[in-house]
Amino acid sequence: MDLGITGKSAIICASSKGLGLGCARALAAEGVNIVMNARGADALNAAAEDIRAQFGVTVTTVAGDITTQAGRDAVLAAAGDVDILVNNAGGPPPGMWSDWSRDDFIAALDANMLTPIAMIQALVPGMMAKGWGRVVNITSQSVKSPIAILGLSNSARAGLTGFVAGTSRQVAPEGVTINNLLPGIHATDRAAALDGGVVKEQGITMEQARAQRAATIPARRYGTAAEFGATCAFLCSQHAGFIVGQNILADGGAVNATL
Ligand code: NAP
Repeated sequence: MDLGITGKSAIICASSKGLGLGCARALAAEGVNIVMNARGADALNAAAEDIRAQFGVTVTTVAGDITTQAGRDAVLAAAGDVDILVNNAGGPPPGMWSDWSRDDFIAALDANMLTPIAMIQALVPGMMAKGWGRVVNITSQSVKSPIAILGLSNSARAGLTGFVAGTSRQVAPEGVTINNLLPGIHATDRAAALDGGVVKEQGITMEQARAQRAATIPARRYGTAAEFGATCAFLCSQHAGFIVGQNILADGGAVNATL
């Protein structure tokens, strides 16, 4: 299927690895010129070089922390006018509800709620003026089914989800769609870090921790960044213009719900 977005331009935040990289690669494969971002320059530049070589699109890299004003300003300055925004950042650490301080909550809100909102506020007016735009926020299955040890993530992402629910309806008349893509367990560094915690806690091997978690997913495996990226690219396509304000799970059936 031709997604109809060749020649468009996109920012993919937090995209040197994992799900963000999956989205960057899938958009580049469709001929979208991209701006990639991450804090670490080495992995970012290596990922960008690989994409340039494979897909022949223009790839601009901006190393910096997207959860800071300076990081966002640098990305926005490098990108200029864009058609597609993929919001992403690292997830908050796991922990116990009784231990988190106000500062812990502020950090999580900054990273996973206020940063994507700031990027939307910066870029959606330009999309509306052109009459076309796509925003995809990478959130989490925890929005639909809470993961108790990720309470900081549950809280911040619920806030973003509420913002998107209303705002997406306000901008849709101008041809701009905003949707959230909710990953379940995917084979990335983030998943490995969480599995590492289980290894320590339960005294089992990494393979056992992975097998244990995979067994809880109806698909009986972890998702891949490539299939997540392909779903993101479809949401950014011409064909997805009637999908507005939705929360789309990519979780192998892990969330056990009818709707
Ligand atoms: P990952 O494999 O750890 O990759 C994270 C990427 O984001 C890296 O490129 C990292 O590069 C970059 N990054 C992290 N913090 C950043 C920041 N402050 N500014 C700019 N770049 C930043 O993570 P992932 O698995 O792809 O997860 C992506 C998001 O999905 C996270 O919010 C995570 O909580 C959520 N999620 C993941 C899963 C899963 O199973 N993988 C499930 C549910 C939700 P640098 O470190 O160099 O900055």
